[in-house]
Amino acid sequence: MTARPRAVPGRAPDVDVVVVGAGITGIYQLYRALEAGMSALVLEAGGGVGGTWYWNRYPGARFDSESYTYGYLFSEELFDEWEWQEHFAEQPEIERYLNHVVDRFGLRPHIRCGARVDSAVYDEAAGTWRVTAGDGTAVTARYLVAATGVLSVPHFPDLPGRDDFVGESYHTGLWPTTPVDFAGKRVAVVGTGSSGVQLIPVIAAEVSALCVYQRTPNWCTPLNNAPITAEDQAALRADFEAMCKTLHASPSGFLHQPHDRATFDDPPEQRQAFFERMWESPGFSKLISHYTDMLVDERANAEWCGFVADKVRAIVRDPATADKLIPKDHRFGEKRPPFVTGYYEAYNEPHVDLVDLHETPIVRMTATGIETTEGERQFDMVVWATGFDFGTGALLRMGVVGRSGVPLTEYWAEGPKTFLGIQTAGFPNLFIPGGPHAAAGNNPRYNGDQVDFVTETLVYARDHGYDTIEADPAAEERWTAMVDRWATRAPSFGAGSYYFGTNIPGKPRKYLLNSAGRPKLFSMIAEVRASGYEAFKMSRAPGAAPTAGEPRPPAARAALGPRVRPSPRV
Ligand code: NAP
Repeated sequence: MTARPRAVPGRAPDVDVVVVGAGITGIYQLYRALEAGMSALVLEAGGGVGGTWYWNRYPGARFDSESYTYGYLFSEELFDEWEWQEHFAEQPEIERYLNHVVDRFGLRPHIRCGARVDSAVYDEAAGTWRVTAGDGTAVTARYLVAATGVLSVPHFPDLPGRDDFVGESYHTGLWPTTPVDFAGKRVAVVGTGSSGVQLIPVIAAEVSALCVYQRTPNWCTPLNNAPITAEDQAALRADFEAMCKTLHASPSGFLHQPHDRATFDDPPEQRQAFFERMWESPGFSKLISHYTDMLVDERANAEWCGFVADKVRAIVRDPATADKLIPKDHRFGEKRPPFVTGYYEAYNEPHVDLVDLHETPIVRMTATGIETTEGERQFDMVVWATGFDFGTGALLRMGVVGRSGVPLTEYWAEGPKTFLGIQTAGFPNLFIPGGPHAAAGNNPRYNGDQVDFVTETLVYARDHGYDTIEADPAAEERWTAMVDRWATRAPSFGAGSYYFGTNIPGKPRKYLLNSAGRPKLFSMIAEVRASGYEAFKMSRAPGAAPTAGEPRPPAARAALGPRVRPSPRV
């Protein structure tokens, strides 16, 4: 284990920026920091890059945002040369893409995999972060960017006897890199969120028996995936400019456009035809391009839910199973809706069973299977599709200690407090793009907005001779209060959604996204710029050496390749 270096006053840190996590946000942050002439190192817990798309490699894992709207847009050359195969790409293609980006822009030498950060302590005297990781890495950095993601800490339910099970056991969010053989096995899947419902129809084709343990059904609607044809590809290339503009203007970062009519503007027949069009439409258009009142008016929402329920009854042959699959406790859009391919159809297979845990709850795990109040069923494999400690899970497990030795776990004991979902007061030079409180929607779009702004702020500080940046507590209080206020407004996710931390026992029930979305993020960023970064206290650290990050010589920059598209200023 390498000795932990201690930053001494006057001594420059080892690197300007340590980024934690080589997921979609961390990779982009690395690119932007290097491009701005800073030295940077990414520490990644996984054995490879990709973050969520490295860990969630379960069969059936795929985007439910359109591939070309989820990928990076900073380089038109990259966009042109990478030909997505499907409108909603599958995990292997996504992982290949992210590896391609890393190599294409010469980022790999700056990424250390297998390095799970276990401690990040702010050294007030030096104005630097001391970061250590499980592989022995110990490094000091002026800036720490935790790009640890919101869905990166898998949640296992605390069931009696969970460790007693002797068969194979997997979590969708910790899927092994070696192949998992389902052939001829009796498999249980616990959980029917977006992960479970993607996995179930794919493995149903291989296993000898599949039993799905469902606590709460979700409003699943078709993803409507399709291959990207040569004509689609040509159109995407030709429309790149326009697509970027549309995505940038979209509050949720999608191409889908809002509808202009409300549910009861249309007579029943026309409404039915519109619902059919929605059912046939791709992914999130069912939220974004729906009737304008679908998410806000209970009667309107109930009309659509009735339509979806009828679809489920029409697909699933056994009426009792169909009924169990129809949500009764929440409206459409109140929880993050999954988008599926062949999910309901899987229950028509004679070897696929559904157990409703509201009727027959799990009593315990046994060595050989799962016991409910109805008795024990035996399995060769159990798959936990039981979700994540959303929003704050990873940040609170990283040993972050800020000014005056205050741990982040203590400062956020009642829930996260942030300014712009970018910084938290008392933790100078720590940035958390892609964490809680940013926006809601197509993640890479608003995480990318945050990375752009973080980078811009670092450059501003450097150009003005500052090396300490810290959110003003009053600005933080206002932003956090705004997040809480918007969380109670419709359209919003219901209090039963994991967006409020409700799936984790003991977690504070605080809203972890930002329902005001990108428009609010953009307007506040514009305000910050206009005020000369007033909401960020900038200073010179008492013992700081000059900031190492100077514009790089052209040769070093060349390794990054051409950056043909400056990120749009917002
Ligand atoms: P999730 O939505 O939190 O679903 C977890 C499931 O496990 C729920 O059905 C939950 O039931 C169940 N569960 C939890 N604890 C349980 C217990 N003790 N006993 C029985 N069941 C239990 O997690 P996820 O499916 O992994 O999805 C998380 C998020 O990841 C999604 O919302 C989405 O944002 C993202 N995701 C995206 C994609 C994509 O298409 N791009 C794919 C997968 C995931 P309850 O509802 O009753 O709590």
